[in-house]
Amino acid sequence: MELFSLTKALMSVPSTSGEEEAVGFWLRDHLQSLGWTVELQPVSDNQSNVIATLNDTPRLWLSTHMDTVPPYIPPTEDDEKIYGRGACDAKGIIAAQITAAEQLRKQGVTDIGLLYTVEEERASTGAKAVNLHPLAAKCEYMINGEPTDNDLAIGSKGSFRLKIKTKGKAAHSAYPEMGDSAILTLLDILDDIRQTKFPHDDFFGDTTVNIGVIEGGVALNVIPPSAEASLLIRLTTGREPVETALQNVIRDRGEIEVLSCSEPVKLLEVAGFKQKVVRFTTDIPHLPNWGKPLLLGPGSILVAHTKNEFVLKKDLHDAVSLYLNLVKKLLNDESAGNAERKT
Ligand SMILES: [Zn+2]
Repeated sequence: MELFSLTKALMSVPSTSGEEEAVGFWLRDHLQSLGWTVELQPVSDNQSNVIATLNDTPRLWLSTHMDTVPPYIPPTEDDEKIYGRGACDAKGIIAAQITAAEQLRKQGVTDIGLLYTVEEERASTGAKAVNLHPLAAKCEYMINGEPTDNDLAIGSKGSFRLKIKTKGKAAHSAYPEMGDSAILTLLDILDDIRQTKFPHDDFFGDTTVNIGVIEGGVALNVIPPSAEASLLIRLTTGREPVETALQNVIRDRGEIEVLSCSEPVKLLEVAGFKQKVVRFTTDIPHLPNWGKPLLLGPGSILVAHTKNEFVLKKDLHDAVSLYLNLVKKLLNDESAGNAERKT
């Protein structure tokens, strides 16, 4: 199947996180029809990673995720672009990787595997499960795909997801002196967090904080007894200095509940490719057993997760050549570079 048709075919099967079963079956059938050996690795009752190989112990893997953020947007296209959910994050990437892998196979390269995970957009449970897979031990290089505008990412920030919870005392809103507002306490804490200077790292850049969700209270006429805010912090250092800074701000006014944490990661640098640091995180921090990590993919992270998600057809096309060149360079050149994991 041709590159753009394959992209649209994958996008035509909805796969919001938690609902990846159908697209996993589709990929299994497609790859089997091309002659790949395909394993579905169960992650939960209706979620499986797709693992495809041409030989028993591939040294190099191409990978990305099958899930998308909601809502589902079916594919459309014009001469320049393919639009819709997953266009760049990450079904266009799956299509480019399969196309590159098929071209490599025609040239006699069989030392490659394809790995497509579930749940990357939430807690990376697919990556965590496959990290323990026996094939990981033989993997030397893992080229992960996320929209990097086809640049080779040499670092990706970490992500620290947490809740801040406050407690108060309910009372009739006409008698506020009888209560204690958990929402006002939370707003004070959040204001202090906005004034806080978090660590800067010369390689990864600034730590940034998004207060993404605020919830609390029970009714307009009740002093709110509880409130919480969910934050996503883009880490440029380990989690510890950031968590300490938060504790110092919150003191005894509230509590932190940690939801998940991925540390920042340095990725393999390869000469001859345009390089940059990306601010988002990927499955890579959860795949430490899978060799040296690289990150490259068509499309822009700035349109991923939006209702205007698209990928340029030219970028898809270019990605195929980039994957092809990168794979050949890595398989042929043992000294392609050194990856370092920042902890
Ligand atoms: Zn993605």
